[in-house]
Amino acid sequence: MRIAVVGTGIVGTCTAAWLQRDGHQVTFVDPREPGEACSFGNAGSMSPSACLPVGMPGMWKKAPAWLLDPLGPLTIRWAYLPIVAPWLARFVGYSNRAEVVRIATALRGLLAPIFEAYAPLLERSGANDLVRRSGCLYVYSSRETAKQWQWGMDLRRKLGVDLRDVEEDELVTLEPDLRGTFRFGLLAPENGSTLDPSRLVKAIHAQCVRDGAQAVKASVTGFTRTGKRVTGLTLDNGEPFECDGVVIAGGAWSAALTGQLGTRIPLETQRGYHVTVASSNLKLRHTIMALEHNLMINPMAMGLRLAGSVEFAGLKAPPNYARAGVLLAKGRELFPHLDSSRTSEWMGHRPCLPDSLPVIGRAPGTDNAWLAFGHGHVGMCGGASTGREIANLVAGRAPQVDLEPFRADRF
Ligand SMILES: Cc1cc2nc3c(=O)[nH]c(=O)nc-3n(C[C@H](O)[C@H](O)[C@H](O)COP(=O)(O)OP(=O)(O)OC[C@H]3O[C@@H](n4cnc5c(N)ncnc54)[C@H](O)[C@@H]3O)c2cc1C
Repeated sequence: MRIAVVGTGIVGTCTAAWLQRDGHQVTFVDPREPGEACSFGNAGSMSPSACLPVGMPGMWKKAPAWLLDPLGPLTIRWAYLPIVAPWLARFVGYSNRAEVVRIATALRGLLAPIFEAYAPLLERSGANDLVRRSGCLYVYSSRETAKQWQWGMDLRRKLGVDLRDVEEDELVTLEPDLRGTFRFGLLAPENGSTLDPSRLVKAIHAQCVRDGAQAVKASVTGFTRTGKRVTGLTLDNGEPFECDGVVIAGGAWSAALTGQLGTRIPLETQRGYHVTVASSNLKLRHTIMALEHNLMINPMAMGLRLAGSVEFAGLKAPPNYARAGVLLAKGRELFPHLDSSRTSEWMGHRPCLPDSLPVIGRAPGTDNAWLAFGHGHVGMCGGASTGREIANLVAGRAPQVDLEPFRADRF
């Protein structure tokens, strides 16, 4: 089949690679270079343990204080509040314990096979060196403080995540840079990360092209259809484009396209920021998750990346780099010896659904359009397993993951 893949982020690129393995003729369509949108500057964590939704029970007790601080970990630009309010109401509706257990079970199904789903893509594209399995440390100022997150950590364990207690002595042996600030940790030894998310996307994309994929530099503005079949795309460059099937993997920009196929999806963007400290003098070896500080810290190829922040301000508002400044200030506070003389900043649009689950499946009312977007905080984690599942659906094979919770018509 000639299949158009709309979007060359991690999700579209992995999906194309999996489709190609089944012998499909793939065409990428994206006005950007591969891996230049949200898949560019994320924290790179590939965590089978990242199965908890963003909306957790009790979170809303903390939210008012966060919201009152314009540079706090969660912010809403006031002009955007009326637009995002209905989405937030749904988000809160999913944050009770029963829903969180359901969502975490579904996400765990998608994320447990992260490395198995990436393996053939990395092997084929010679990108094994861009992914490492060095584990993640969730770190806390004390064992007592860690209890705030106990329920979620217990849920992870129930779902099969390997999480080991790490007392202070062992913690500072594993990571001497944490001395003095963190006194307790949980080690997720199965976790990994990519050294450079954008390079990873580009490597898989380049291999797809070497293997015969076409790449069209254009924006998709609509579809041509005959009944339930999509027969082509409308491109902003006016060129004709015919296909036998299409996958929408346009990240945070996917809702408008999906709407044209007749399905409304409540897709919102949670904007996030990073600061990367070039040639960091820290010697961290694990991905560090400092939950008290809402900060992820990852040693990467280009330096030490400090990432986090959730900002509701839509797709068009300019970045507020003061938020990246806050991440750097936090990094300096936690690691007073950090040499941060050379840094770069970035903002990206996480594609988010109110239940923190992506949409993976056939577009309702169509025979040959598939949806693969909405991975929120876990797109690097879930890119390859999503691609594998879309290839299964296109081929009519049984899915390897329970896809029911990811259906597009669940809202
Ligand atoms: C600060 C931060 C830290 C993060 N850390 C992590 C992490 O550690 N681990 C993790 O798993 N995830 C993380 N994430 C989330 C992750 O980055 C995203 O979930 C993921 O990148 C989404 O990938 P995507 O392919 O869906 O979208 P994108 O990478 O945004 O790609 C979408 C592509 O679609 C194209 N497109 C859109 N509309 C059209 C159209 N009409 N026509 C043609 N092309 C179109 C765009 O140009 C773009 O190239 C983080 C995100 C942020 C912001």
